[in-house]
Amino acid sequence: MQVPLLDLKAQFAPLKDETLRVVAEVLESQACIGGPRVAELERKIAELSGARFGIGVSSGTDAILAALMALGIGPGDEVITTPFTFFATAGCIVRTGATPVFVDIDERTYNMDPALIEDAITPRTKAIVPVHLYGQCCQMDPILTIADVHGLAVIEDAAQAIGATYKGRAAGSMGAMGCFSFYPTKNLGGAGDGGMIVTGDETLKEVLMVLRDHGARPKYYHSLIGGNFRLDALQAAVLLVKLPHLEAWSAARRRNAAFYDKAFAGSNVVTPRIDERCVSIYNQYVIRVPRRDEAIAHLKAAGVGTEVYYPVPLHLQKCFAGLGYEEGAFPVSEKAAREVLALPIYPELTEEMLGYVAEQVRAVAE
Ligand SMILES: *Cc1c(COP(=O)(O)O)cnc(C)c1O
Repeated sequence: MQVPLLDLKAQFAPLKDETLRVVAEVLESQACIGGPRVAELERKIAELSGARFGIGVSSGTDAILAALMALGIGPGDEVITTPFTFFATAGCIVRTGATPVFVDIDERTYNMDPALIEDAITPRTKAIVPVHLYGQCCQMDPILTIADVHGLAVIEDAAQAIGATYKGRAAGSMGAMGCFSFYPTKNLGGAGDGGMIVTGDETLKEVLMVLRDHGARPKYYHSLIGGNFRLDALQAAVLLVKLPHLEAWSAARRRNAAFYDKAFAGSNVVTPRIDERCVSIYNQYVIRVPRRDEAIAHLKAAGVGTEVYYPVPLHLQKCFAGLGYEEGAFPVSEKAAREVLALPIYPELTEEMLGYVAEQVRAVAE
């Protein structure tokens, strides 16, 4: 049996006719940037996130970059984040000219450990960027309290967590700004790149709208140095077709996760731990197994797709050598990078496929 890590064709098939229709509409209109579909998507994503405003942008990366720029973060500033995340989180901090300051993660949730934040704060610290990894929110209350006490802004990297909640509050709505990605492999994925920032702050919203258009308002009068961070109408149209299904897809991912949790109970497969205050959207279902390389090879031979998110923590990336971190600086992240393994969790998996994956994983873990 073949079980890929993700099967986007299975998701597209039932939506094909509707998607082709809306794509044709956009092409007929030849209004390809911004426009009513982008505005509608912004309204709907803001509503889903419990935030007042949505600002469509060109990617999750540009969402983070623009959010940092909107706060005026730049050279001489420090921004606290996790080293166990996708590159973009720290890459954007560096691109503003600021310095990322990493804190280690909690061993079971893989999210930033709030108990380590205060020690990382200096007079230069301007913001904290918690990352809701694999679809589970960080412990936001302690993070927000620390930010409040020290006068720091919080930007949520919610690229993997659209629709996830913490104590009933939606990912993206808890900090000053929340950043989403519509990269095709995310839970709400476009037909290419796209992203969105949500915020409850009207001033930030206005700044972000200007920043995404090269800082121009009106056109050709530049009060700020922004970028081309705009969202295409085609992406918005495709995403609007998918959005009504997001909740059911996330529920299906949770159902699949429950299947695996049960199947791995009593084995030496370490399953994901979801905090009781959180509802995860399982962008990934990540286990730990002894001897990961052997496990990957066995699963590959058995036709099961897997992936390692992420094999090198950011403080050990070559391009960040200048930050001066050594191996051993963040032992929990380093251990996770050696042991984690993502299994297929996408909504369209059948029980037969789940059973097959579970059986193969159990076999290799024993
Ligand atoms: C995907 C991702 C991003 C970047 O989003 P893009 O849309 O690919 O630019 C940023 N942070 C995290 C945690 C992500 O998973």
